[in-house]
Amino acid sequence: TTTTSNNNNITSKFTIDQWIPKKETFSKRYYDILEKRKELPVWKQKEDFIKIVKENQVVILVGETGSGKTTQIPQFVVDAGLIRPGKMVGVTQPRRVAAISVAKRVSEEMDFELGEEVGYSIRFEELSSSRTFMKYLTDGMLLRESMSDPTLNKYDVIILDEAHERTLSTDILFGLIKDILKRRSDLKLIVMSATLEAGKFQKYFENAPLIKVPGRLHPVEIFYTQEAAKDYLESAVRTVIDIHKTEGPGDILVFLTGEEEIEDTCAKIQRETREKGLPPMKTLPLYSSLPIYQQSKIFDTCKERKCIVATNIAETSLTIDGIVFVVDPGFSKQKTYNPRTRVESLLVAPISKASANQRAGRAGRTRPGKCYRLYTEKAFKELMIQQTHPEILRSNLASVVLQLLKLGVVDLVHFDFMDPPVPDTLIRALEVLHYLGALDDEGQLTETGSIMSEFPLDPQLSKMLIFSSENGCSNEILTIAAMLSAPNCFMRPKDNRIEADSAKKSFDHFDGDHLTMLNVYHSFKKNGEDPTWCYENFLNHRAIKQADSVRSQLARILTRFKLSLVSGDVNSKYYYENIKKCIAAGFFMQVAKCEKKNIYFTLGDEQSVIFHPSTGLTRRPEFCIYNEFVLTSENYIRTITDVKFDWLLELAPNYFKQKSFPKKTKEAIQRAQRLYSGSSSSSSSYKK
Ligand code: ADP
Ligand code: MG
Repeated sequence: TTTTSNNNNITSKFTIDQWIPKKETFSKRYYDILEKRKELPVWKQKEDFIKIVKENQVVILVGETGSGKTTQIPQFVVDAGLIRPGKMVGVTQPRRVAAISVAKRVSEEMDFELGEEVGYSIRFEELSSSRTFMKYLTDGMLLRESMSDPTLNKYDVIILDEAHERTLSTDILFGLIKDILKRRSDLKLIVMSATLEAGKFQKYFENAPLIKVPGRLHPVEIFYTQEAAKDYLESAVRTVIDIHKTEGPGDILVFLTGEEEIEDTCAKIQRETREKGLPPMKTLPLYSSLPIYQQSKIFDTCKERKCIVATNIAETSLTIDGIVFVVDPGFSKQKTYNPRTRVESLLVAPISKASANQRAGRAGRTRPGKCYRLYTEKAFKELMIQQTHPEILRSNLASVVLQLLKLGVVDLVHFDFMDPPVPDTLIRALEVLHYLGALDDEGQLTETGSIMSEFPLDPQLSKMLIFSSENGCSNEILTIAAMLSAPNCFMRPKDNRIEADSAKKSFDHFDGDHLTMLNVYHSFKKNGEDPTWCYENFLNHRAIKQADSVRSQLARILTRFKLSLVSGDVNSKYYYENIKKCIAAGFFMQVAKCEKKNIYFTLGDEQSVIFHPSTGLTRRPEFCIYNEFVLTSENYIRTITDVKFDWLLELAPNYFKQKSFPKKTKEAIQRAQRLYSGSSSSSSSYKK
């Protein structure tokens, strides 16, 4: 369900101590959990904490993972009477899964129904009510809320949790909230972190007091490999099986980098356990796109040993009790951005020392534990960096800059960044926005730019949407934008790859993957959204349902700005051409040109790339648009559609005129210009 919170209907006749519904009786579960809660380290400092928070506007709180920060501190804030009637305490989380999972847990701890008094909000999904006084939300969502509520008036207390992660949105919130605090003496800020680099936060927030929650970690014995593992997945499976075979009771936590890797490894562990005749072991995946009911399984207690195979999310965001053994291959997916080439990519990269230590710490929560590092001690000591660089230093800033401009932060250079991004990155962001038509030549936000900022999407996608509404096919583009924003809809189970691939072929569109998505969505609707039909066609029902919900939310935003919802004429021979032009209107900066045979190079940064094997585009057109640049064993482009160069020239003349383009790109553009200058047949405007 999607509800918007409206907190104005709680009248002020309640006194501060009374307004939060105090129950007369609580469930048995409430008392059971309460006993456990009281043992958490933060409870020893409850009175101190309340006193310090009452006396200060900003407080920094540092404590080991699992000490009770995320679940308990917001409740202490409420107990202290710091939330006035109709106001909220907002707690940010860098990860969607954490926001939902913790909100669910806290609503149980307080004996409420999730979505009533305690709610959550993540992109495209909000669960809250008029009674909500505690909301867990992603940092990106709070940033978005600040656009319609610039002083964050709904909140009396804001808790920026997991501050040590230094995500892009949290870093921007630091600057925005620091400024709001000057204007709102009634607002309090609590910054929570799992690591001790708190000095930096204290200094940034004018020497705010620091509360340290002493940890209660048991010793963790660390093992290294003699040589670097050749294949860390294989090595991880072997280590898990060894632990299971030779070690006493205790659950296992394995850190891997992404969904596919995790699912494959879970299957392998299960198979080996069976084949080797070992006692059963419950193998559970944990990653962000996993449905919520599956995520909560990791917290269930069970008789047999549990083995949780997780992404970085289990490093500090979620605490799972009972872990005694940690297997750490030493990698995670990390964002990198090269402002020169404008390429932002998610790369599997070595983690930092700080991360490695956090991961090891997960083994010592309940009793002494063991951590198996699948790398050498030398690599740990000499190769791993101390701390991962803040995300703001390795991100494409176009989206954030657009939001800041909308918020009226014009002087970006003097914005109070905790770590200012390199000027080049800011300039690139402004350039991108200018090419997209979000900024005019003076650098002022245009009307299009202003509307673009309202979509919770990357600027390319919002530009494509707005353009499609003016060019007769917003219904189709809405579908494509939504499918691109939801998890991948094609399932490819390991044991049925051939069947899955042939099922996918029946949806493949001759012109490329964006249009294939459109085919899938239409068939899904035609078949009454039937889960069985999806299953038979190797489609992920949940993913398409999610896309459907995203689609209606995006449609509402279009309507709010009086942008029309129109369908193209299916019988026109220009039907697909018009749709492709709209995609090009947003993605003209992500074009690849065929160099020879299967090898392409990306225009602008001239990376040599090949098509990702998942593409349904069997031809090799001269130019194509891609949605993603994926760097794994090869440089891939993924989600690809054939485009004509003359549309690109018409849609973004300024972009393609750039003098700073490298040689090969310039030559390709000039050649294409010469070729197409004669033919006026294919203008970029909408054709009937
Ligand atoms: P921190 O934020 O300091 O890392 P948390 O507040 O997240 O700590 O967790 C404190 C404790 O609450 C955990 O150690 C665990 O025992 C319990 N807990 C948290 N979430 C859940 C859950 N979903 N199910 C069961 N127990 C939970
Ligand atoms: Mg926490």
